[in-house]
Amino acid sequence: MTAPITFTLDLEDHRPDDSWPARYAPIMREVLDALDARNVTGTIFVVGELAEAEPALVREVADRGHEIALHSWRHIPLTAHTPESFREETRRGKALLEDLTGRPCEGFRAPTYSLVPASLFAVDVLGELGFTYSSSVLPAANPLYGMPGAPRQPFLWPNGLAEFPGPLAGVGPLQIPFLGGTYLRLVPRPALAVALRVWRHHTAPWTYCHPYDFDTEERFWWVPDSGRMAPLLWVGRRGIWRKLDTLLAHGAGPPLRYRLPEAVAGGVFDPASLDRPTVPPKVAA
Ligand SMILES: [Zn+2]
Repeated sequence: MTAPITFTLDLEDHRPDDSWPARYAPIMREVLDALDARNVTGTIFVVGELAEAEPALVREVADRGHEIALHSWRHIPLTAHTPESFREETRRGKALLEDLTGRPCEGFRAPTYSLVPASLFAVDVLGELGFTYSSSVLPAANPLYGMPGAPRQPFLWPNGLAEFPGPLAGVGPLQIPFLGGTYLRLVPRPALAVALRVWRHHTAPWTYCHPYDFDTEERFWWVPDSGRMAPLLWVGRRGIWRKLDTLLAHGAGPPLRYRLPEAVAGGVFDPASLDRPTVPPKVAA
């Protein structure tokens, strides 16, 4: 049987600009009610700028029993940072969330799985700043970001930071993080049952959503970088709780900060091993 799946949500502002109504706060409160009704507590990754704009919402999420973790300060990919800018913004976000909740902020999730070989400096910075875990790696080739060769199970980086990689399912090279967001809304429920069997070996799977995944009344707009795929961001929102109920049917997993033993059990992964050539270089005759 699949290990219990932890509910996670990335609390971010998905509007094209400030002239549009901010819908994430009332939707987040509806999600909190739905989680209460199911007796589920999870990990909510909050964007720093949003926490600054809506401190009461962040406090409410924490008061209702959920873990508050950081989803970066500005929601830009890690690859757009220098180590210095990442350190400064991440320190600021962690301090703000700790101020609002009165609890240590232990977890970090990179925007769009952007912890890749080129942004590995983030692992050192997160360790320095006192984070205990990250949830930022997609361990497969992906058109946007990805770290093929990274373990699929939770693991430890050499500095002791735990990593909860995005759970994947698929066929051959096509490996997709079906457990959340648009993928979860699009995948038919029978396929979800098959995917759950694939995940039965995963020690700490997690699902992920965003407030917009639950927003059935948002007007359509062309989300940057989504191209012709943009309409898919609106598909299946009405049915998302049916999907989540399938995933959580056997009881939800605890917030990620309680799943560190699973990462310890996964052992240490040294990303230097990614750079090793898989084919021995030809020796000149
Ligand atoms: Zn995000």
